[in-house]
Amino acid sequence: MDFLPLLLLYLCLVLAVAVLYCSHAGTGGGQVGRAARTAGQVLSLVIPTWLQGVTQKVLLRLFHTRNYLFVILHVALQAAVYAEYTWEVFVYCWELEFHLVLLLLPYLLLVGNVGCFILCSCANPGIITKSNHASLMKTYAYDGVLFQKGTVCATCNMEKPARSKHCSFCDVCVHRFDHHCVWVNNCIGAFNAKYFFLYLFTLTVMAATIAIITAAFLIQVVLLSNLMHGSYIDDQGQEHTVEILFLIQHLFLTFPRIVFMLGFVILLTLILAL
Ligand SMILES: [Zn+2]
Ligand SMILES: [Zn+2]
Repeated sequence: MDFLPLLLLYLCLVLAVAVLYCSHAGTGGGQVGRAARTAGQVLSLVIPTWLQGVTQKVLLRLFHTRNYLFVILHVALQAAVYAEYTWEVFVYCWELEFHLVLLLLPYLLLVGNVGCFILCSCANPGIITKSNHASLMKTYAYDGVLFQKGTVCATCNMEKPARSKHCSFCDVCVHRFDHHCVWVNNCIGAFNAKYFFLYLFTLTVMAATIAIITAAFLIQVVLLSNLMHGSYIDDQGQEHTVEILFLIQHLFLTFPRIVFMLGFVILLTLILAL
């Protein structure tokens, strides 16, 4: 496949991930959320009304209802990255005599990450029930600004303890509510926040480790092939010394899946770190 279609495919996929992230962020606050809402308002001027209705229903189902779509997407993305890492990066790096402990580190992190993911998804985030309501009412003091004493949840029909919130996805009030995470399909609250922190930490380190190993492999390939000191002849028959753009194009065409995976894990690391 030529460089241009491959690059366009790559950019489309990166854009799709960014749009997905923005759409999800659009349900909350922040600059990204505001940008997503503004983009939505602009698009509503050109998209037919019936299509807007269908899109809203689909978005409501995907982003405002508890479902396993993002969990499946999460597992599929992780499986794709690890399949690529195992079948190509690991094998090539092993041949280039990378240290075995370094090559096995992403698998070790995967075990930890999957463990934290399961704990996060299955653990009770801090659902307020009739039996624990009285004790949770005493845990935090009302600040009188965000959390007012005497506020009753209309759905649960209980007075809201300070720092609690009703989750519209799960339809329950959650103690020390942080947010509802679609990637783990559960609320993040007082009881599972520590697992969520560990989940994010292992995911960030995992993505960064795979990115570092993959980048080190590509750098090693460039150094071993002595490509930087070579030259190439363009379509007009002119000879040029190898520059960075040519190098990226060469690596993209030689190892398309590896370069694509590298772009994805770098993007993931940046999203998680920012
Ligand atoms: Zn409630
Ligand atoms: Zn929830």
